[in-house]
Amino acid sequence: MVQPLRLRPTLLVVARTHHLVLLSRRPFSTVLDTPINAAAQQTPPSPSTSSSAFRDAIQAAGPRNNWTRDEVADIYNTPLMELTYAAATVHRRFHSPAAIQMCTLMNIKTGGCSEDCSYCAQSSRYDTGLKATKMVNVESVLEAARVAKANGSSRFCMGAAWRDMRGRKTNLKNVKEMVKGVRALGMEACVTLGMIDAEQAKELKGAGLTAYNHNLDTSREHYPSVITTRTYDERLATIKNVRDAGINVCTGGILGLGEKSKDHVGLIQTVATLPSHPESFPVNALVPIKGTPLGESQAISFDAILRTIATARLVLPATIIRLAAGRHTMREEKQIMCFMAGANAVFTGEKMLTTACNGWEEDKEMFDRWGLRPMESHETLQGQQDGIEKTDSKFTEVVESASHAQLNV
Ligand code: SF4
Repeated sequence: MVQPLRLRPTLLVVARTHHLVLLSRRPFSTVLDTPINAAAQQTPPSPSTSSSAFRDAIQAAGPRNNWTRDEVADIYNTPLMELTYAAATVHRRFHSPAAIQMCTLMNIKTGGCSEDCSYCAQSSRYDTGLKATKMVNVESVLEAARVAKANGSSRFCMGAAWRDMRGRKTNLKNVKEMVKGVRALGMEACVTLGMIDAEQAKELKGAGLTAYNHNLDTSREHYPSVITTRTYDERLATIKNVRDAGINVCTGGILGLGEKSKDHVGLIQTVATLPSHPESFPVNALVPIKGTPLGESQAISFDAILRTIATARLVLPATIIRLAAGRHTMREEKQIMCFMAGANAVFTGEKMLTTACNGWEEDKEMFDRWGLRPMESHETLQGQQDGIEKTDSKFTEVVESASHAQLNV
């Protein structure tokens, strides 16, 4: 009979889980002499310690659109280690954990915007030293897209500092040429042009646009503290126009706008209760720009970023979660934790709009170190949609089959 009184207290704890004999034979500081059960490693956290919303999220077979604010808050407030582990587990059910979508974002029209977004260098209301420029020409955009593709980016995003597209017929025509050119290179094309109406969305769809970015930025409650020149509902109306035109919606937020954690919950719950989840959810960390009202803001804590990503992964299981602005301020280990928790897209390249960006070489080296790889276009929902007739039911089928797929790395 073994003599438990001679064992250290830590071993006594383990002894109660029926491994006493094994451990009493094994000297300290050796590796386990029995194989690790891989299936057991995938076991989600114990439901007994978590809320029913948390359990539902872990067991989800597909996206659901009826999340309540309280449910999302329960998930958000789960102890962070447990939350991150659960998000990593769900991430593996819905996505290949090694695949990271590489996107390059180019400003096609810089500065001079009439909006008052209090974080933005491109608003004409703030003296940030940024020089407004005219829209760049189509060929220079396509040249930049070729460079991005050669460096491994699969999606090329184009941003213009406009409030909306009213009276911008020539601009829209040029943007459509850019979209067509980017698609002809075999890349996904995304644009962010401010508010658009239903007709403009259809025109962009006709040009082959893959996705339209229009961030909600924050919760409905905190939004008026950040922007006063257009409403939350106007943002939602643009998102509806994009969705109705059959373009993938990219909408997310910025952390560090002076909000509280309940505003992270509010933002996630808003996008999670849209008629269909966005294809992509960017999580930006504010990069304070001198001269803007938020220019002296304190950086958001990393645990809040990680918590937001993990919650989004659980509540939006099939969505691509984009670790966007602010990534260049994070050490590599922090970025990797974000990927563990479910982030699976980044902006990479020379610049990200007006802020710095991690470069391709730096990202390639990081990917090599951690066994990550660029996501192929066909791995995204848009890629899977290409070539099939887009009806709602067909799209749902694609989402559900993607949700059930056990993708191999
Ligand atoms: S975020 Fe967009 S809409 Fe707001 S000021 Fe900047 S460019 Fe204009």
